[in-house]
Amino acid sequence: MSDSWNKRTQAVHGGVRRSQYNEVSEAIFLTQGFVYDNAEAAEARFIECGDDEFIYARYGNPTVSMFEQRIAALEGGEDAFATASGMAAVNGALTSMLKAGDHVVSAKALFGSCLYILENILARFGVEVTFVDGTDLAQWEAAIRPDTKAVFFESMSNPTLEVIDIEGVAKLAHAVGALVVVDNVFSTPVFSRAIEQGADVVVYSATKHIDGQGRALGGVIIGTKEFIRGTVEPYLKHTGGALSPFNAWVMLKGIETMALRVNAQAASAQKIAEALEGHAALERTLYPGLATHAQNELVQRQLGGKGGTVLSLDIKGGKEAAFAFLNALTIPVISNNLGDAKSIVTHPATTTHQRLSEEQRDELGITPGLIRFSVGLEDADDLLSDVRQALDNLQA
Ligand SMILES: *Cc1c(COP(=O)(O)O)cnc(C)c1O
Repeated sequence: MSDSWNKRTQAVHGGVRRSQYNEVSEAIFLTQGFVYDNAEAAEARFIECGDDEFIYARYGNPTVSMFEQRIAALEGGEDAFATASGMAAVNGALTSMLKAGDHVVSAKALFGSCLYILENILARFGVEVTFVDGTDLAQWEAAIRPDTKAVFFESMSNPTLEVIDIEGVAKLAHAVGALVVVDNVFSTPVFSRAIEQGADVVVYSATKHIDGQGRALGGVIIGTKEFIRGTVEPYLKHTGGALSPFNAWVMLKGIETMALRVNAQAASAQKIAEALEGHAALERTLYPGLATHAQNELVQRQLGGKGGTVLSLDIKGGKEAAFAFLNALTIPVISNNLGDAKSIVTHPATTTHQRLSEEQRDELGITPGLIRFSVGLEDADDLLSDVRQALDNLQA
């Protein structure tokens, strides 16, 4: 293994740990525990557990460890801790470091469950959270205080695809010693340079592009060795958010093809967004890769111009038209995952963001006509004709 490898090489060879059989494909160590040679060895392992030693799968497992090392290498982080889901990762990253009396600043455009942690759970344990419009650096500057412990945001928000300036927010946060925690799902590990741009902790739902084929739940927290082993691991190994070895193996194999998938999906998303922009049945076409996106300059700087694999379409005519559009599509499936090989369409206002008040949804731009479109690996022209026929149908 080499630190100097580029992402594509890390994705295939990073973190490999071979057994005595020298298998080519990573082994699944579907075991909870590990046998010690004698009582003294057990005692010694509990005193100090080496990098290549294991105690119990809630603490660590060889297959899980391969996944952690591969994604850490890919992301340019020192270490990683894998979790049972993306939400276990978001919760683990935040609650492992925070205590009553701490102050956090968060962007308000968040995935529903992230918002629940920031708004409800942290408050119950006495953590004060100030919400800001994440795209406005002046609001971050006004909200960050000398005692702010952490800032949190989705680098690209779900589902309105606002892009947040990692470098800009990190500069403000680091000036007071606050940790920058980034939920990087929509930016994807393929386009991300979040750590180089100032993120201290990067969180992924591996359920999305890392698996990429809709099979398994998983998550991961990436950061410095000190943060992962000193702060996250003690919290997670005792609270039980561990990733299963089988799911870790699914993720390991998913990472190998992730760049090919995500690049193809992003190219199709770009093509579809460009073709649909200005369509008479659409109020707005939201895609960070469009030159007309409000933060396209930031997308160029932060993501090399890549807009990701998701676009959002605001259909004229509200919920009724949005439902008619969804029901008329023949290729994308109506569901709520994203980053899958299959295109997936979602109506956030009535599903993923149903829990929010109408006022909150209005504030976040989650209108009744908004459709989130996770672009899959189908032929882009087939997808485009399908979307076109479903839109034309509305106007007929
Ligand atoms: C899906 C998602 C999560 C949660 O991930 P799970 O694996 O479903 O727990 C967190 N943040 C964002 C931005 C997501 O899209």
